Amino acid sequence: MKFSGKNVLVTGAASGIGRAVAKTLANYGLKVWINYRSRPQEADSLKDEIEKSGGVAAVIKFDVSDEDAFVEGIKTIFSSDGELSYLVNNAGITNDKLAIRMKKEDFTKVIDINLTSAFIGCREALKIMSKQRFGSVVNISSIVGETGNAGQVNYSASKGGLIAMSKSFAQEGSARGIRFNCVTPGFIATEMTEKLSDSVKEQYTSKIPLKRFGNPKDIAEAVAFLLSDSSAYITGEVLKVNGGMYM
Ligand code: NAP
Repeated sequence: MKFSGKNVLVTGAASGIGRAVAKTLANYGLKVWINYRSRPQEADSLKDEIEKSGGVAAVIKFDVSDEDAFVEGIKTIFSSDGELSYLVNNAGITNDKLAIRMKKEDFTKVIDINLTSAFIGCREALKIMSKQRFGSVVNISSIVGETGNAGQVNYSASKGGLIAMSKSFAQEGSARGIRFNCVTPGFIATEMTEKLSDSVKEQYTSKIPLKRFGNPKDIAEAVAFLLSDSSAYITGEVLKVNGGMYM
């Protein structure tokens, strides 16, 4: 895959899908800015791993739900590299419970971290990328943003909102060639899904035509494709990476 840009910011990159995305993009030759919130050791170990395989990485700490910190983080990257070529809004949380037991704060916290923060990232990226006349953004949504899921009214709303928001950003960015796309992972083996009981995991696996949970690497390659020049004519699109669970 060919990348005309030079650097990328991946939010929530210390673990899981973000970590795999960071490693994959470094392998494709991009300088990777590893954003983390609470795991400095994991972020540093990822930087070391990337550098040992000949890549370039930098670590940047901020909480994506803190608007000022996110804006400042992007400014730091721009003043260091003179550009921001790519952004992956990956940071996300779950806080599952049945709707009748869900407090307003349980709902808004998930929306803040999964959706509002991605809005801040997309907005700041669009400002810089519009001046550059170059850039591509991928937002990590979810299969449940397409299908809904019992116990996840907050999470599914945030991920469905991310899809609609990405399409709107795609329309605003298109005049200057800035692309916005989403990847919707199905069930992927990370800390987020480790919390599920074995019986729930078996129940989900039985509904996946490819009969396994995905790996973070499965998502990372899809993200790389959507950022790269190989997808130059794709914007406002949603790429499902779910083992066929939802077609
Ligand atoms: P994960 O291992 O829990 O990773 C989530 C990452 O996001 C963590 O490194 C976490 O850092 C970071 N993060 C959370 N809140 C943050 C904040 N406010 N500021 C900065 N970083 C923050 O889960 P994952 O499975 O890799 O999830 C990555 C993305 O994929 C999420 O958006 C998730 O919704 C999406 N997704 C996952 C699956 C799946 O099956 N795993 C399926 C569909 C979509 P801390 O540990 O420091 O909080």
